[in-house]
Amino acid sequence: MKIESVEGLILTETNYSESSKILNVLTKEHGLIGIMSKGCRNPKNKLHGVSRKLIYGTFNIYYKEKGLSTLISIDIINSFSKTVMDLEKISYASLILDLTNQVVKQTDSDEILELVIDTLTKIDEGLNPIALTNILELKLLDYLGVAPSIDACSHCGSTKDIVTLASDSGGYICKDCYNNEPLVSEKTIKMIRMYYYVDIKNITKLDVSDQVTNEINNFLDDYYDRYTGLYMKSKNFIRKLNQINKN
Ligand SMILES: [Zn+2]
Repeated sequence: MKIESVEGLILTETNYSESSKILNVLTKEHGLIGIMSKGCRNPKNKLHGVSRKLIYGTFNIYYKEKGLSTLISIDIINSFSKTVMDLEKISYASLILDLTNQVVKQTDSDEILELVIDTLTKIDEGLNPIALTNILELKLLDYLGVAPSIDACSHCGSTKDIVTLASDSGGYICKDCYNNEPLVSEKTIKMIRMYYYVDIKNITKLDVSDQVTNEINNFLDDYYDRYTGLYMKSKNFIRKLNQINKN
């Protein structure tokens, strides 16, 4: 085994034996890898504070191509400390880690880590977590090979007179193809394209009305159910959380 430094984000942590954890880490260099953090559940161990989900850093490891690598130390780049202290932020961050873990099993694109880090950074800085999660969800559909049709009508390809957005049609619907699908606001039709094309790094504010947020969120929930085969249990938790906040 050789010592290597890799840049990565911890997606999941699983207890192992008496005092250790196995970390599932999305790395720039090797994609998703398993890393054994020996003894880290002992509070006196130097790996204790850093062997948790959402830690982003440079991992110094004994790298093993097949099987588990072994952690030596982590130099933290971002621990997303504000997110960890906030129930709403951590709920969305957990959903993002859960989604990322499932998506990277289906595609080996090395762009995903950067997209996810950009999203988590903006959530940590205090920008609208639901809108940011939706932006990431929309962008990840591309890597799953099921991007929606939001440049033109999903039926006829026309770019004129788009009247609504429907997941069972796969995206935009124009006036001529409209067949009593539920209508969404004009703002939602425009905003979802902005979500798709925006560079997350460049977002400095995200003022989105509740109506637009709900319409885009509902579209994406339904779209994921229909076309991706992914199931996120953290989504149910967020739905419950949103209901509590509304009451
Ligand atoms: Zn059409």
